[in-house]
Amino acid sequence: MYAFLPEEIFAIETLHHSHSEKLQEKFRAKQIYGWLYNKYVLDFDSMSNIAKAHRERLASVFRISHLQVRHIEQSSDGTRKYLFQTHDNLLFESVFILMREKVIDDDGKILKSEKYTFCLSSQVGCRVGCVFCSTAKGGFVRNLNAGEIVEQVVFLKRDNHIDSHKSVNIVFMGMGEPLDNLKNVAKAIKIISHKDGLNIATRRQTISTSGIVPQIERLGAMNLGVQIALSLHAVDDCLRSKLIPMNKVYNIAKVLESLKKFPLQARKRILFEYLVLKDVNDSLEHAKKLVKLLHGFRAKVNLIPFNPHSDSVFERPRREKLKLFADYLYERGIVATIRESRGLDINAACGQLRQKIQNKDFLEDKIALNNNHV
Ligand code: SF4
Repeated sequence: MYAFLPEEIFAIETLHHSHSEKLQEKFRAKQIYGWLYNKYVLDFDSMSNIAKAHRERLASVFRISHLQVRHIEQSSDGTRKYLFQTHDNLLFESVFILMREKVIDDDGKILKSEKYTFCLSSQVGCRVGCVFCSTAKGGFVRNLNAGEIVEQVVFLKRDNHIDSHKSVNIVFMGMGEPLDNLKNVAKAIKIISHKDGLNIATRRQTISTSGIVPQIERLGAMNLGVQIALSLHAVDDCLRSKLIPMNKVYNIAKVLESLKKFPLQARKRILFEYLVLKDVNDSLEHAKKLVKLLHGFRAKVNLIPFNPHSDSVFERPRREKLKLFADYLYERGIVATIRESRGLDINAACGQLRQKIQNKDFLEDKIALNNNHV
């Protein structure tokens, strides 16, 4: 049910209806949206302002939820990682990040409200094949459909008791390359931002891409109002092609050229993600080259210290070196932040939890098999 815009629910419902019935249905589609996205209901019976006969008809046409949560990991910093299972038994992850806790003064007045970011997946697996990524190791399985993308948002809001009016930030930075599944991601963005539903402004939604040039151009032409982030990670093609093999097709110059034409919202910047790998791309020489590359952009650089995992060959950079790198950019007018690592204690980098659970399933299957053999 999360895969439909109100007008689509309306169109399916009114196939054989008269004009007056159609008007009624239009209002009902809005009511249904309210139940799904403001009350987070999971069954049609709870939609109490809709007639019973109609609820039964809805239940015969639609199914609300298509995902099951398989596992949740809670980090000490408030980050929660969810492992979802699709109807065809595939696993993918979403991450709930508490960016800021509520600040209340002694009189109970709210000084600062809490801030949340949801990191969503767009595919099961990924075909881009970045060498530092756990998701890439499992290869590509399939695209998530729009409903499966939207349901991640609803689930995370409901499970974390976030009021329907409270807006959150959305980043398409989980498993998968969102621009490799642009049709479903674009549809999901339209549903997530719909005013009768979740109403999360598109300027609060960021698509993070490894740099598929024709798809950046397509996304720009759609003019959805979303933000874009590029996983740059290197300042020369030699290193970037090693880290992100697709760079051999769409090199740094081509990707930056396409980003120059991307429609930016007022006061917004293009986000450049730079995964900092110890002794690989963390020197001042690299910082200098980065400043040159980003000349002419309204840019923000997010420095992400690598989050090591058991089968990675890279290491986490030293804090002092990272700081020097960030200061160098900052002094030359580039907004640069060092992204605080969230959920370090819970396999928070994308694909790590899925791999862990799959390995566990594999071990359990193996044990079961061995037991059967005894
Ligand atoms: S980092 Fe992102 S684009 Fe690269 S392989 Fe992993 S999921 Fe795909």
